Amino acid sequence: MSGAPANNPPAITDITIWEDDPVSGVFTTAAKPDITLPPLKFLIPGAVPPVSNDINSAAFRYWTAAEALKRGVNFWAPVIPQPQLWQRGGDTLEVHLDRWEDLEADYDRDALNFYHGPSASGTVYSCASPDVLCHELGHAILDAIKPSLWTAHLQEVASFHETFGDMSAILCALQLPSFRQAILVETNGNLNCDSRLSRIGQQLGTAVHALYPKDADPNCLRNTSSFFSYCDPSSLPSSALTTSLSSNPHSFSRIFTGALFEALADMLTVCAANPNAPTPNELQAVSEDMRDIMASGVTNARQIPGYFAEVATTIALASAQKNPAYPGIFLGAFVGHAILSMETAATIQSSLNVLQSEFEGMANDRRTAESLTVLPASRYGLAEDLSIEMITSPLGFIARSARTDGKPMEHTSLPVAAEAFVDELFIIGQVDYNGFGLKGFNSYGRRRSKTHELVRRDGGLILQRRLFH
Ligand SMILES: [Zn+2]
Repeated sequence: MSGAPANNPPAITDITIWEDDPVSGVFTTAAKPDITLPPLKFLIPGAVPPVSNDINSAAFRYWTAAEALKRGVNFWAPVIPQPQLWQRGGDTLEVHLDRWEDLEADYDRDALNFYHGPSASGTVYSCASPDVLCHELGHAILDAIKPSLWTAHLQEVASFHETFGDMSAILCALQLPSFRQAILVETNGNLNCDSRLSRIGQQLGTAVHALYPKDADPNCLRNTSSFFSYCDPSSLPSSALTTSLSSNPHSFSRIFTGALFEALADMLTVCAANPNAPTPNELQAVSEDMRDIMASGVTNARQIPGYFAEVATTIALASAQKNPAYPGIFLGAFVGHAILSMETAATIQSSLNVLQSEFEGMANDRRTAESLTVLPASRYGLAEDLSIEMITSPLGFIARSARTDGKPMEHTSLPVAAEAFVDELFIIGQVDYNGFGLKGFNSYGRRRSKTHELVRRDGGLILQRRLFH
């Protein structure tokens, strides 16, 4: 006799998952994932639960999370440099699906962390949303591609990390065939509109908005179809309602994400055999092009004040390697959002090959110097001055964003830009003092989870990043 006994149930090969977010209420089926397979693995501590279709169960959240992360990492793997490792150097990243009560999710280099919190419709789990899972995964992916961005004390670099996370949520969602089909129907083939694709993290965002109205839109964390034009982040308030722009990275990132979302829509129109009726396969192809262009662009960009203009330039240059129609699309989006001045965009158009070689050369020789700037203790309620690490990059072509009158903007110096970033962190309460505050001094901010912390290193007090939300 051979084969399984007749009373053994067949092995489960497909699972039911949320397509993008619990609020959408749309299910789809996907292959049961194995997160222990290379190249980039995940470890979810604890016993592996049986597959469950109870949408309120921890088991359903486990399998939704496992599928979204595996789908996401399979999508990003082709652009992770060899040997393919997470930033810490290992091939396995821990995932904690429910750490404690907090309306948050974060990536701290050791793990992807998810939480739970209250909402009007009951407890919300941030790991229940493939959008949120793939946003945090995006931080880990970008950290594996370009780890030096972690230590950059620059508002535009931190904001680009958030843009990468939101684009990861969008691009990973588009790897589901049923979602591609549904989005093409919902948007009538014009992606750049308010849709399930543009609304990132609907359930978590709704819950966050109820408690912290300035931290999320009423119906999602961020809506990629929102339009914001570039302005110098140091000219903005550190917090604002979501209808306005602030220098907070989640808010400021919407400028760049909006430009990339617009470009994605135009790439689809250009690549479709019938521009009025793009197909799911064509949408998948442009999502892969966007992935490759973003990864190449971020690899070649230097960490300098005016980073949005810098990375917009390297992204436009990378797009030319994919499709001769793409640079015009990207430059149009970047000029339209004032991320690039018309002068800079015109120079890029006329010098694509020369500039591409220049940026690749600078990225390859990796000439950077680290220096410290010292900020006064009295400002922050500290007993000793605070040192900030800065990375100085090689000089070369300098891209300019546009002022509100359309003219090219002069960038602020590195120490001034770094100080503005650090001051904002303290103002919005994102620094854990770790006991280094003056006796009786209370730090600011209501949120428990902090992106940065004070540590002692080499005898001095240093500010370092702990995580990205
Ligand atoms: Zn984030």
